[in-house]
Amino acid sequence: MDKETNCTICEKPNPTRTTIGTSLNHSVKCRLCGDYEINLTLESVLPHEHISRRKILSAYIRAQKDAGFPPVKVREYNYKKIIDETALPSVLEKIELLILYIGDKSEGEFGRLIALDSSWDHSITYSPRHQEFEEIQRFLEKEGLVERLHDQTQNKDFHKLTHEGWAKYYGLKKNRIDSLQCFVAMSFNPSLDDIYESAIKKAVEDTGFKPLRLDKIKYSDVIDNKMLYEIKRSRFMVADFTDLKGGVYYEAGYAKGLGKNVIYSCQDTEENKKRLHFDVNHLPFLFWKDSNHLYEELVAWIGATILKPEEINRIGQLEK
Ligand SMILES: [Zn+2]
Repeated sequence: MDKETNCTICEKPNPTRTTIGTSLNHSVKCRLCGDYEINLTLESVLPHEHISRRKILSAYIRAQKDAGFPPVKVREYNYKKIIDETALPSVLEKIELLILYIGDKSEGEFGRLIALDSSWDHSITYSPRHQEFEEIQRFLEKEGLVERLHDQTQNKDFHKLTHEGWAKYYGLKKNRIDSLQCFVAMSFNPSLDDIYESAIKKAVEDTGFKPLRLDKIKYSDVIDNKMLYEIKRSRFMVADFTDLKGGVYYEAGYAKGLGKNVIYSCQDTEENKKRLHFDVNHLPFLFWKDSNHLYEELVAWIGATILKPEEINRIGQLEK
């Protein structure tokens, strides 16, 4: 047994620790935080962070796990960034997070019982303490969205969504898919900055959507998890293959696998056309000559393939 038996991040007892490679790195499974990787250097530094900040890190790692992403690699260079950049949910969002959690865990089965233990699950709602998590559970019961059952033999509480709970759950899910975000995957070569600014960003904004390009985040461990998360919550993607970066193939493939609409574009040169990978060269591409050309093509494509009929008046408003 390891002499250090508390989780360095949340201080809860007895996480499972497995050494990876050298004895300096560990893979940790904590009931509160979920799964993460950490090294000894960071484990000696981390306790100096205030526990309230470490709780944010804990909730972030747990959210990644619950969303099905690989364990977060917590490193000296990224942990502060994760804590500083994690947007803490409002009270209303915390309530929604618990409905979404129970619904997701039920996997579409009406009446499935989901175990919730406030001492170990309060990071689901980013609650610093178990009391707030219990308060949210009581609220959901009172509102008739969740039913709680106590199992005497296991001495455990189980929860299931009621009919109203499911209606709320599907409403929340739909809103998330109806997000206005457009993920932009492209090379960060400065020579393409103008293409981003005056063609892609402008076209996305002018059709009423919000572009997101993750070039401001430097570190790969953070960018991977954040990228997958942001693609998941985007309505669609613009993937520009000029410069033929491997990352763009990967991101476009991931979005496509999630059933997202992907708009493929590339600068119109003989070389680009020749070199486009066989996996993508059969797809309809917007081959653009300059930023004006790409802007016009994108506005037309977004209008035709992404905008819903009730949203089309947004373009009309802009033209006035
Ligand atoms: Zn923990």
